[in-house]
Amino acid sequence: MPELPEVQALAERLDALLAGSALSAIEPLGFSGLKTHDPPPESLVGLRLERVGRRGKYLVLDLGGPRMLIHLSQGGRLVVEDPPKATRPKGAVVRLLFEARPSVMVKEFGTERRAGWWVLAPGDDGPLERLGPELGDDSFAELILRGDDTRRIHTILRDQRTVAGIGRGYSDDILHRARLSPYSTLPSLDPPTRRSLFDAVRSVLDQALEVERRRAGGLPTKLGDHFTVHNRYGKPCPRCGEDLRRVSYESHEVTYCPRCQTGGKVLADRRLSRLVR
Ligand SMILES: [Zn+2]
Repeated sequence: MPELPEVQALAERLDALLAGSALSAIEPLGFSGLKTHDPPPESLVGLRLERVGRRGKYLVLDLGGPRMLIHLSQGGRLVVEDPPKATRPKGAVVRLLFEARPSVMVKEFGTERRAGWWVLAPGDDGPLERLGPELGDDSFAELILRGDDTRRIHTILRDQRTVAGIGRGYSDDILHRARLSPYSTLPSLDPPTRRSLFDAVRSVLDQALEVERRRAGGLPTKLGDHFTVHNRYGKPCPRCGEDLRRVSYESHEVTYCPRCQTGGKVLADRRLSRLVR
């Protein structure tokens, strides 16, 4: 799934490519992609795109009052079409056409069909209303350095209401960078460890953003080839060489290094033990 670095760098590329031009047409191509019914998408046609930004994992297209949001979810991608196209490929969600600029198409490459778009009236935050702070906000620093949220840190980082923009991929890498167990919680950490976790969050995402900024155009189907540990179980830990392991919980898998993160302990796979029982 595209997370903060992918979406942020994509927003920057789209802003450079499209800002200042008028939206000339919106072609809804898929059937469940549009998540709002009022205002209608046609009401945006003719408006000038002021800027493209990001909030959490949402692309925010600011049309000088009204806004359009795009969320790529798991398998959604954005394709830049230069020259603009009129095709209707499988998985297509929506195409936006701009005066004298390339077109962009949101397309679903996954099987879950969850990529969506929203048309918001001026002042309406829509789904952005439910998002927690951004990484740079003081309240996020406060949470990590002094907060007493007792959920697992991995869960906290992935919860968009707690902090916006991080998903499973970078959560795995952050815990590895901070040498913390996938099961660790904030109240169990001493102040220096909290500080190093906070630094790990920032450095993992800053580095990923740097890599993402080297891309051109839209977002390719395959993402995340620059993860340090996420989805790399069975491969050697880049820090110590031990085989990376995976453990499943909350319907997904976490990759970790036993030597770096759990004092050598291999975590019991609860899904597996449930089967055994
Ligand atoms: Zn290691």
